[in-house]
Amino acid sequence: MSTVPETFGELVFDDRVMKAKLSSKVYNAMKKTIDEGQKLDPAVADAVAIAMKDWAVEKGATHFTHWFQPLTGITAEKHDSFINPSPDGGVIMEFSGKELVKGEPDASSFPSGGLRATFEARGYTAWDPTSYAFINGKTLCIPTAFCSYSGEALDKKTPLLRSMQALDKQAMRILKLFGNTDVACVRTSVGPEQEYFLVDAEMAAKRPDLLFTGRTLFGAKPPKGQELDDHYFGVIKSKVQAYMNELNEELWKLGILAKTEHNEVAPAQHELAPIYATTNIATDHNQLTMEIMQRLAKKHGLVCLLHEKPFAGVNGSGKHNNWSLATNTGVNLLTPGETPYENAQFLLFLCAVIKAVDDYQGLLRAAVATAGNDHRLGANEAPPAVISMFLGDELTEVLRAIEEDRPYDGAEKTVMKLGVSVLPKFVRDTTDRNRTSPFAFTGNKFEFRMLGSSNSIACANIMLNTAVAESLKQYADKLEGQKDFEGALNALIKKTIKDHKRIIFNGNGYDDEWIKEATEKRGLLNLRTTPDTQEVIIEQKSIDLLTSHKVMSEAEIRSRYEITLENYVKIVSIEATTMIDMTKKLILPAIEKYSKSVADSLISKRSVVPDLAGGYETKKVARLSELEEQIDSALNTLESTMTDLKAVEDITEASHVIRDTVLPQMAQLRIPCDEAETITAKEYWPMPTYDDLLFGVR
Ligand code: ADP
Ligand code: MG
Repeated sequence: MSTVPETFGELVFDDRVMKAKLSSKVYNAMKKTIDEGQKLDPAVADAVAIAMKDWAVEKGATHFTHWFQPLTGITAEKHDSFINPSPDGGVIMEFSGKELVKGEPDASSFPSGGLRATFEARGYTAWDPTSYAFINGKTLCIPTAFCSYSGEALDKKTPLLRSMQALDKQAMRILKLFGNTDVACVRTSVGPEQEYFLVDAEMAAKRPDLLFTGRTLFGAKPPKGQELDDHYFGVIKSKVQAYMNELNEELWKLGILAKTEHNEVAPAQHELAPIYATTNIATDHNQLTMEIMQRLAKKHGLVCLLHEKPFAGVNGSGKHNNWSLATNTGVNLLTPGETPYENAQFLLFLCAVIKAVDDYQGLLRAAVATAGNDHRLGANEAPPAVISMFLGDELTEVLRAIEEDRPYDGAEKTVMKLGVSVLPKFVRDTTDRNRTSPFAFTGNKFEFRMLGSSNSIACANIMLNTAVAESLKQYADKLEGQKDFEGALNALIKKTIKDHKRIIFNGNGYDDEWIKEATEKRGLLNLRTTPDTQEVIIEQKSIDLLTSHKVMSEAEIRSRYEITLENYVKIVSIEATTMIDMTKKLILPAIEKYSKSVADSLISKRSVVPDLAGGYETKKVARLSELEEQIDSALNTLESTMTDLKAVEDITEASHVIRDTVLPQMAQLRIPCDEAETITAKEYWPMPTYDDLLFGVR
């Protein structure tokens, strides 16, 4: 059997393979492109294409695809085979630099939010050489960006790469001011912790809601939920362990550094975290991870649910986006330094993030908005919809001392004058990790915890990178050319703390009092639903930010607004229709059948004991009848709303109908259905219940 180091990355055309398969001239040119973003010579592209194809064919690949991430959130690919007929009637396997660099998928069915006129259906895909090609099944997958012919991004990767560039540019200006002449570039890294549920496949097959929407639309609470907290970090069941083992192996072969796996808080909930990587690569890897998780689950007789809220009343699933920025020389800019100068630099980057999160709270919230995540944020388990930052007591105290120009009462008493006297050495605060904070500093990185488990991490990182780039730009504009650099720096940090301290909150984010204080006293945004958040995306302030850093054009921003709302409307509409269908075809007939059996039983008992009171049976049948009435009425209301919705053409208006009418009516329909479940005999209930699903995997 081969060992992990032997198989790690065996399906990836990575640096090791390139070194072995490319001439040193081609290899060096490739390296320059990967490391410094230099343009690739067509001759080099040809040589790389041939080597890539030979390597892939050796590994059994027959096809290639430009692998991209359209705005729908899933990845897309169209496979082309390498074969070309040869004159002797056989075939040869061919692949050119041109095919590697650029593809033209017929992309008319991908959403573009009005960016592409329909007559101009084609977009093109462009190779992202910084993310390695890999083999999936029999296909060589080439990570690409996806654009329209007029150059607008039709995917999530293009703006992500642009945001990384924007941040690099501004961070380099700052680093220069601190005299870091050896640094060539600054990159952001991300380690996404991925939560998911596993349920038994045979049971899931009996639930149209799980199949069509990824979440349960009905279901009474089980007698045992997560009260005992006995699942978190608990022993992993053997079926799940077998799945995790194979998942790790598959991911490792693809060069994905799957590192930790454990049970999560809710029953049937688990987590997988990789070791962090450069953001665009981490994004590609996370998309692949989600894909493989779902595919492998089937093989193990399981279904992997990536929905943010598969079960009402049970913890939902998120994705923690651990984010930091580092130089190409390996210095993490969010690590407190050893010398006063390093610490001053650290504080400036820290302040840049604080300012960015405060200035662009709405954009960050909007970046994680989906119909699924709306169920999670603010639901007393996940971070609230209000964004605040946790810095820990010590760092908060350091900032306060700087703001107030007074000594810092840390380990050593020091006056907090930057560059003038010595800054204290901060002890890294890793013990007190506030789990309720949406945006927490965890020693050398920030953890943005609002992402939903099914979100692409691209969106959140696009906004985060750009917002931080903007803070740094403003800082660099102020500091460049200053005679008294230290004085100006000190003033800048003080001003940032003063202006933005409202975003810092180290307390319990689940507390209702906090939401009150945040919104009423501190003026922080509380954007509860997707339609609320999307208003922010098209505000002038957001457009200015994204266009000035060349991350998105105004047309691209508007297209994303449309697509997010379109998705929201579509997803909830499918849920509503599924509910209607399940109620009519499964739930009402089941109640009918069970009522009849209770009634029949009374009749047959009375044939033996004619004057039997029959209180129990009568009450039960009466209650079930009442519930049927309620269900029928809620059903009719929802059905007529769905009919009316079809006539609403404006997407913003449609999203408001969903938020204000459809979702509350769905909740209304669910109540009597769930009650009926609790008084109907299990053998009559037409689908597996919450107990079955949550405790059914052994
Ligand atoms: P937790 O207690 O939240 O699980 P960990 O320290 O295990 O925290 O890290 C969680 C994730 O953060 C992992 O994916 C890890 O690789 C990532 N991570 C660690 N350091 C950094 C960093 N400097 N930048 C980005 N991500 C990081
Ligand atoms: Mg974490």
